[in-house]
Amino acid sequence: MAMINAYAGKGAVAAEDRRLIARREAVLGPAYRLFYETPVHFVRGEGVWLYDSNGDAYLDAYNNVVSVGHCRPEVVEAIARQSAVLNTHTRYLHDGIVAYSERLLAKFPSELSHVMYTCTGSEANDLALRIAKNVTGGTGFVVTELAYHGGTDLIAGLSPSLGPAVDLGEHVRTVPAPDTLKVPAGKLGSYFADGVRAAIADLKRHGIKPAALLVDTIFSSDGVYSDPPDFLREAVAAARDAGLLFVADEVQPGFGRTGDAMWGFLRHDVAPDIVTLGKPMGNGYPIAGLAIRPEVVEAFGRSSRYFNTFGGSPVACAAGMAVLDVLEKERLQENAREVGAYLRSQVKGLSSSFVADVRGAGLFIGVEIAANDKSRTDGEITARIVNGLRERRVLISATGPKANVLKIRPPLVFSKNNADQLVDALRAVLNSL
Ligand code: PMP
Repeated sequence: MAMINAYAGKGAVAAEDRRLIARREAVLGPAYRLFYETPVHFVRGEGVWLYDSNGDAYLDAYNNVVSVGHCRPEVVEAIARQSAVLNTHTRYLHDGIVAYSERLLAKFPSELSHVMYTCTGSEANDLALRIAKNVTGGTGFVVTELAYHGGTDLIAGLSPSLGPAVDLGEHVRTVPAPDTLKVPAGKLGSYFADGVRAAIADLKRHGIKPAALLVDTIFSSDGVYSDPPDFLREAVAAARDAGLLFVADEVQPGFGRTGDAMWGFLRHDVAPDIVTLGKPMGNGYPIAGLAIRPEVVEAFGRSSRYFNTFGGSPVACAAGMAVLDVLEKERLQENAREVGAYLRSQVKGLSSSFVADVRGAGLFIGVEIAANDKSRTDGEITARIVNGLRERRVLISATGPKANVLKIRPPLVFSKNNADQLVDALRAVLNSL
């Protein structure tokens, strides 16, 4: 994943942007990556559209942060209004954090009745693992082979998709993703559970007590695996039986994206001990956190003080509240289900020899690409498609083990008309290959 869709200095870049890239590298150093062979330079966003400095509009079919649309006025106004009144931290009494927490927790099964706030998904996962270690007394973790859970030192060690240069933690074991092209649907649950059982056994053989199974419930960086929507059940039961917690990472699928449910874990009918949240929660304002069973955080809470300077501030909670307002008012989960199903059916109808599979739920769609001869790799064809779409001003990216899966993940306000625009561009690019 580290090098997927990364600018490599080769594309045709306008002189002005070339200068900006040089200045950027001079100050940001070598670890940052830009997207696309020819990077894009935006100056404005609105709804599903991003605009460059020439005023050209790009259809954003990739951004899962601004779920309710770029620069969504209700969220902008809520942030501005609260910023003008008060913005402090969680050590003073304030209505905002309590009202938002009550509203947010009402969206979860009743046993998940506490919420804790961070600013990023990485921090939410980091906190989840601290709590899991505390309550189980274990230190071992199980994740999928190409998982991404974030960038802190601890969590980078549980994010194998960062590539071989980033060491996995010694206490981390990986399991193969539930690859629906390799494993028949009826066997997917036991296949994934067998991997989890083997990982737990291996931790124990090395004298490591396991603490948790951590899963992104839409398998975003593994290649997008969504169906049949019960294949997680056996693995979660196996983890529970062995004394592990189950942590559902909802940073990608959460807040209605999968269309079928508010949370990805609900599609799979499994009950997490901890659910981590992020990205779309504040539509671009950095608010993240976790929902947790009270008994899981009880001992941790008594022994460890928790504070996060910006997490759960009045402005963060105002942003979160405005996002929930828009999600509900515009029935965006339903929109994700309808438009997502339509988009998948249109992509399936393209009848291109390069399209090996179309999968996903709601507005999280994976299109597996396979080269139709040996002259190019699957990943090269996928890169041609991603960059060809970018030339036609449609933004997506790629994922999967060989960077061979188109990742289509637009804001939830995406319409059928937007889906048609995307499919028309995709058809043109596939025909040009
Ligand atoms: N979990 C998943 C599944 C993610 O995709 C990401 C971010 N891509 C994170 C956690 C980390 O979130 P953040 O970048 O806000 O730290």
